[in-house]
Amino acid sequence: MSVESLINKIQENIPEEETDFDFLRMCYSFAENAHRKQLRKSGDPYFMHCVRTAEILAQLQLDMDTICAGLMHDVLEDTGITRDEMKQKFGNNIANLVEGVTKIGRYKFSGGHRKRQAETYRKLLLATAEDMRVILIKLADRLHNMETLDYLSTEQQQRISKETLEIYAPIAHRLGIWSMMSRLEDLSFKYLFPESYREIADLLNEKLEERQAYCKKMEAIIQAEFKKHGIRAVVRGRTKHIYSIYQKMHQKGTPFKDICDLVGLRVLVEDDWSCYNALGVLHLRWSYLPDRVRDWIGQPKKNGYQSLHTTILDDGKPIEIQIRSNEMHQVAENGIAAHWSYKEGVPTTKEALSIYANYKEMLDDIQDTPDVPGRFIESMKLELFQDEVYVFTPKGDIHALPVGSTAIDFAYKIHTDIGNTCCGAEVNNVLTPIREPLQNGDRVRILTNPKSTPSRGWLRIVKTANARSKIRHWFRDKDRADALELGKTFLKAELQLSYLNASDYLKSPKLLEIAKQLGLDSVDELFIRIGNGNESATQIVNRLKPEKVKVEQEKPKPERTDSAIQLENGIDLGMVRMMKCCNPIPGDNIVGYLTRGRGVSVHRTGCARLLDEPERFVALNMTAEEGVIYPAQIFVECHDKPGMLGEITTAIARFQVNIREGNFKASTVTRIDDTAADYFTLDVTGIEQLREVMEAIRGLKGVERVVRKM
Ligand code: MN
Repeated sequence: MSVESLINKIQENIPEEETDFDFLRMCYSFAENAHRKQLRKSGDPYFMHCVRTAEILAQLQLDMDTICAGLMHDVLEDTGITRDEMKQKFGNNIANLVEGVTKIGRYKFSGGHRKRQAETYRKLLLATAEDMRVILIKLADRLHNMETLDYLSTEQQQRISKETLEIYAPIAHRLGIWSMMSRLEDLSFKYLFPESYREIADLLNEKLEERQAYCKKMEAIIQAEFKKHGIRAVVRGRTKHIYSIYQKMHQKGTPFKDICDLVGLRVLVEDDWSCYNALGVLHLRWSYLPDRVRDWIGQPKKNGYQSLHTTILDDGKPIEIQIRSNEMHQVAENGIAAHWSYKEGVPTTKEALSIYANYKEMLDDIQDTPDVPGRFIESMKLELFQDEVYVFTPKGDIHALPVGSTAIDFAYKIHTDIGNTCCGAEVNNVLTPIREPLQNGDRVRILTNPKSTPSRGWLRIVKTANARSKIRHWFRDKDRADALELGKTFLKAELQLSYLNASDYLKSPKLLEIAKQLGLDSVDELFIRIGNGNESATQIVNRLKPEKVKVEQEKPKPERTDSAIQLENGIDLGMVRMMKCCNPIPGDNIVGYLTRGRGVSVHRTGCARLLDEPERFVALNMTAEEGVIYPAQIFVECHDKPGMLGEITTAIARFQVNIREGNFKASTVTRIDDTAADYFTLDVTGIEQLREVMEAIRGLKGVERVVRKM
């Protein structure tokens, strides 16, 4: 097709056009030159595809920018030409349109197994398009590709047809472009289900002449009737497209012979009033089915569709008739494209604005926050899904997220556990910080590590309420666990300070009783309240204490056994006594003193009580034994401030070390200014544990000195 025949086509569809078409000629030869030497699979020059795409856009009566962009829609993808060159030559508008088409052409829809996926993918295309005309060009491009599908392999035919039926035909449908939708559907149907297609086409052909003859007859009769009443109208027969017949047969189970609207008539009149006049004429002349009368003029459909529908009975045979004005017909056939019609330019009428608002609603049934329509039209931007970003999983599943969402949002969208253990992300195969906002079409792989946990900082980064609430939930759980542990420790320390046996009291049913009295469900809840500082451990211990405060009998502890003490040559000694003066524990340097008739007494080397009689000394080994604990005394010098003692006992309790005895009062406390000195007798397993405990106490703020008592 030459440029002149394309111009003829445009003038045919848009008679009022007065431009000189020089710009179009320039685009034409530019694109022709760019695609020179390229051939399609059919053997035709590639450029023919571009001209056909432009022609389809001209038939939709779209503006010159759109038609020119249609001519050049494959230039960026297939030739060495850059966006900047296009912008310089043809301006920003056209460059944007072509770039938009190129961009959405790059997304590959692998899914199709789930309906929701297809829907999200459609939104991805619409969101990326930004300008509605990009979608219209893409649809025209796809339509011509479908029309020339015969030249591709069966596999390609199947893939492209499937994508057309699942993605592009529904977009055309939602945008109200019926003329395009029906062609896309029929073509895809032909390749995907050739047998069903053949079957229906044959059925239609069978009585085609009969139907056509009948149509002609009715057209003439109705036309004459209108003439008699002075109504100027064009009456046309219309046929249902094959895929819609297939849907009726297979989805609603209607047998072919019962599909009554195979034949229908359409009446086109000049204005709105004439529609009602024409309806009146029909209803006076024929009987009609009252419950099949529809007035879509008084109350247009959401997509702007307007018509009167009625079903008249001709010799008892129902025929559906649609009555509409030429303008309504444009909208019915071309949907949203009709509102960009060439002569009107950017639509501004009130009706058009409300139709836009409705398109938005139709396109997105999930979110219903319509933008101010005025702004929407002004920019001619497709702001429908600008607030969402569409990203893929490594498997090709597509997910919608609010704009600004990060890999963390994505991880939580996939699964809570993936979010909670997320430690990194690969975006388009590149390791990317998880706080970076995702872009349309990104392919995101979440890296997880079972040891990884959420960070509080995530709460400031995430965009989705879902991720935020899951992170909060995780921290709530963790805080509870921490508080529970802390509460238990506080209570234990407090019990020990009261010389009560912690492990017994912590299991005591009395504790549950106290919890219940405080209106709590469980002992754990009580621990959490103590841990959070909402209950005082001291007061709980006071309630736990037996009425009569009696110091508990020091329970016999598992002490060292004789077998733990050996002569260095490994021979067991008979009677061995650990001396209370210096309390040796495993790991200490020790020495045995052979007494006269009372066995061996064991001291730490350097003990002042050890008599200086080296001839009576025996070298000993002392090994720690599982489950055996030894008393060790320490001395702590610290600031005499409130809570200090609690901190020290908590630090000790953290090592599961029992405080056998504590002395914090006058007798052994030396007070110099505000310094306090405390003695503790601890039950430890050996020198290592003792050192750890002492180190922990040294680490507390306010502690000056920690030493072991000799
Ligand atoms: Mn193309």
